[in-house]
Amino acid sequence: MNQEKINFNAGPAALPAIVIKQAADAVLQYKNTGISILELPHRGPEFLAIIEESKALVKELCNLGNDHEVLWLQGGGRLQFSMIPMNFLTPQDTAGYIDSGHWAAEAMEYGAYYGHIQVMGSSRATHYDHLPEWPQEIPNHLKYLHITTNNTIYGTQYAHVPKINVPLIADMSSDIFSCTRDYSNYDLIYAAAQKNLGTPGVALVIVKKELLSRIANHVPPMLNYKAQAHENSILNTANVSGVYTSLLMLRWIKEKGIANIEAENNRKAELLYNAIDNSSLFTGYVKNPAHRSKMNVCFTAVNKEIEQAFLKLCAENNIIGIQGHRSTGGFRVSIYNAVEEASVITLVELMKKFETNS
Ligand code: PMP
Repeated sequence: MNQEKINFNAGPAALPAIVIKQAADAVLQYKNTGISILELPHRGPEFLAIIEESKALVKELCNLGNDHEVLWLQGGGRLQFSMIPMNFLTPQDTAGYIDSGHWAAEAMEYGAYYGHIQVMGSSRATHYDHLPEWPQEIPNHLKYLHITTNNTIYGTQYAHVPKINVPLIADMSSDIFSCTRDYSNYDLIYAAAQKNLGTPGVALVIVKKELLSRIANHVPPMLNYKAQAHENSILNTANVSGVYTSLLMLRWIKEKGIANIEAENNRKAELLYNAIDNSSLFTGYVKNPAHRSKMNVCFTAVNKEIEQAFLKLCAENNIIGIQGHRSTGGFRVSIYNAVEEASVITLVELMKKFETNS
């Protein structure tokens, strides 16, 4: 393989070498079909088998049974920002949103097209450098509470989410399957695939069947969770190669085991945060260790010259994707499941060398 760069991009993000190889093989020929995965019919038995295996694997990894539907939808994360209120809110209804970052705020803005929004906590005033305090009380009239478990741009993450009295909906785009979690706590989970679960455009949705009975009846089939579940996510021409890549990721996650992945993620994050906290040139964006993300590590340099010099040094050492989001500046190192510990060690060593030579 020709992958000589260490890829810390936030998404599309690094994939495991074995998954890239398996996907490449399937592009040349899918199993013994005589055609490529890129040509595989979405209504044939092979794709049906891909859908069924991937659904079963998601349930197994989440420890969920028949009370949940697993859907593979198109339109990435943002289409879910729309589908959720479209399906579960009418203009008279109110939904709660925790405003913990850019994506959480955007989900909330989309919600406002369909109903009333109640902000249940926000850290916007300090540029999302911490998690908002968990609401003391959640009003029973809320149709749902929407949270973002990991805030990709700022590097904050909920380690624990309590059980609540209204349906809980979570955007897990940037931390799904990165740690052990009680998935049964959630009524709807969604994740854009391009971080821990494959390639862009695909979204995984896990929804409690009970919630499907509450769908407003003005929602057209393509945007309707119930209709998508009824058609087994093959309502229109499905993203065959995208879903297949997600299946390869799921097999890889199962083989490693989420507990092992979590242990490795903890080690990777600790290495990086220690390097930042012990440095005189870099400062962590999120100060409270309990709020820090184990997926996206954000930090700044003491000045622009240092920032540019370190970016240049990284580029010279084949390290890519560490520039912070345009809204925060500085650095963001995304260390999703597929990023190896050795890659983090290489970066940390470079940070130390840079510090010594500066
Ligand atoms: N939610 C989160 C947490 C994200 O990080 C992102 C994208 N980085 C999105 C949603 C939006 O995903 P998409 O670009 O697939 O619409």
